[in-house]
Amino acid sequence: MADTITIGDTDLLLVVDVQNDFCPGGKLAVPNGDEVVPLINRLAEKFAHVVLTQDWHPAGHLSFASSHPGKKPFETITVAYGPQVLWPDHCIQGTPGAEFHEDLDIPGAELIVRKGFRPTIDSYSAFFENDHRTPTGLAGYLRERGFRRLFLAGLAFDFCVRYSAEDAHREKFEVVVIEDACRAIDVDGSLAATRASLAGRAKAVVGVDAIG
Ligand SMILES: [Zn+2]
Repeated sequence: MADTITIGDTDLLLVVDVQNDFCPGGKLAVPNGDEVVPLINRLAEKFAHVVLTQDWHPAGHLSFASSHPGKKPFETITVAYGPQVLWPDHCIQGTPGAEFHEDLDIPGAELIVRKGFRPTIDSYSAFFENDHRTPTGLAGYLRERGFRRLFLAGLAFDFCVRYSAEDAHREKFEVVVIEDACRAIDVDGSLAATRASLAGRAKAVVGVDAIG
């Protein structure tokens, strides 16, 4: 049995976008995305502090292919802040697809960070929108509360988990990504790129049972 990581009071579990539209049957389903739900429920029981993120777009959002005539989902375009992958319409504010998966059971979660609500900026990261300048406020919240080490799990590994982990590292938090409790979309090599990027920034933990 590998060493386990003991969870303390300055550790926090950040659960990324476990929403219906990212699960099978949803508008932007991550393959086997729903498999993370029981794992994250188990993980959450090990933490005194949990924060959830929720992708939360207005209709007609810039990141939707449907907002760009002639474009298809998963094409990349250039917008004011750089490249932007176009997605199917997803996680529209107030719709069932934007709700958390019904089996996600973390009643003690202390904060829900909504992101992607500005019509003309997408937000993969829980910390900064895709212009890499507009903060969500999460870093300040976590620092003010004294958290030092963040454990990430959720959807999708190669987008919102990846960018959240990168920004958490940039914000000087210690970062642990629990890969077992993530699932990837894998568009144009994004899974391999994520592993390469995280290698220098985050500790990767494979199994949920590695968390004590
Ligand atoms: Zn989105």
